[in-house]
Amino acid sequence: TYTLGPKISNWDQERRNWLDQNPNFPNYVNGKARVLLLTGSPPKPCDNPIGDHYLLKSIKNKIDYCRIHGIEIVYNIAHLDKELAGYWAKLPMIRRLMLSHPEVEWIWWMDSDALFTDMVFEVPLSKYENHNLVIHGYPDLLFEQKSWIALNTGSFLFRNCQWSLDLLDAWAPMGPKGPIREEAGKILTANLKGRPAFEADDQSALIYLLISKKDEWMNKVFVENSYFLHGYWAGLVDRYEEMMEKYHPGLGDERWPFVTHFVGCKPCGSYGDYAVDRCLKSMERAFNFADNQVLKLYGFRHRGLLSPKIKRVRNETTTPLEFVDQFDIRHSALKGH
Ligand code: UDP
Ligand code: MN
Repeated sequence: TYTLGPKISNWDQERRNWLDQNPNFPNYVNGKARVLLLTGSPPKPCDNPIGDHYLLKSIKNKIDYCRIHGIEIVYNIAHLDKELAGYWAKLPMIRRLMLSHPEVEWIWWMDSDALFTDMVFEVPLSKYENHNLVIHGYPDLLFEQKSWIALNTGSFLFRNCQWSLDLLDAWAPMGPKGPIREEAGKILTANLKGRPAFEADDQSALIYLLISKKDEWMNKVFVENSYFLHGYWAGLVDRYEEMMEKYHPGLGDERWPFVTHFVGCKPCGSYGDYAVDRCLKSMERAFNFADNQVLKLYGFRHRGLLSPKIKRVRNETTTPLEFVDQFDIRHSALKGH
């Protein structure tokens, strides 16, 4: 059967040795785990050229979040393994990054169609000390309903360790393009509630694996739903004004969603479940909602959530340092530790 690469079985020890020999590349810096955010998009231009503009906005949004929070970022546009093209491309890339960056403790995958909408909130990593995979979802949907949307693979974190390499190996076999992916899709549709008939996708394959081999894997999987590590856009984008009136960034949950993910929208590719126009408008709103939080430090905001135009919210001053701490998100983020 298909494999992601030569079987590695001693990674935890190998990595430990490497870390001991390379004290200049620690996996924890000032008590904080080193995190690398991985995202990406297809190697070719979008079918719909406006899609490339939204990919640009999406990577700008991620660069902003990562800069503010000291997270490294990798943007991948290659298919490392042509068998795993499309949404499966994240698997070989995650594995590659674990092996090439032993100093990184957590690899955080985020889809191109997911935006950070709370620029202050931080993932509570210390909560996951005893876990190796952190993913948004609902245990009852997973084990009772066996729903194909019980978990969402648009935003999740993997610890760099042997367990994760093993999970990737167990996850990948349904991925190869063509008959294998087609046949596997039938198994997934037959076993997962609500799943339409189509080729195997990475999300359904992970859900199916965790349901069918629960005892083997689940003790190291943290199914998170106390904040929106992934937040489904349709229930969120129309409420941003209300959120701005009532709440503030830093909450991360339904009051101020950490991530807004445009599941079912495909402004870059051809077919999605929603009208492209509605998707693009909604993405524009999410982007500007987040960008306002970034622009605040510089004294600006968008004229409205649908407008790329900005306006000044503070006058220029001859004593800028009087206010710099008050507006810089990094200061409030530091206080939280
Ligand atoms: N992706 C990629 N290379 C590809 C196709 C997809 O890196 O050739 C990434 C991209 O970030 C995308 C994610 O995989 O958001 C999921 O794929 P897709 O958008 O098709 O699925 P959806 O997000 O709609 O579930
Ligand atoms: Mn997505």
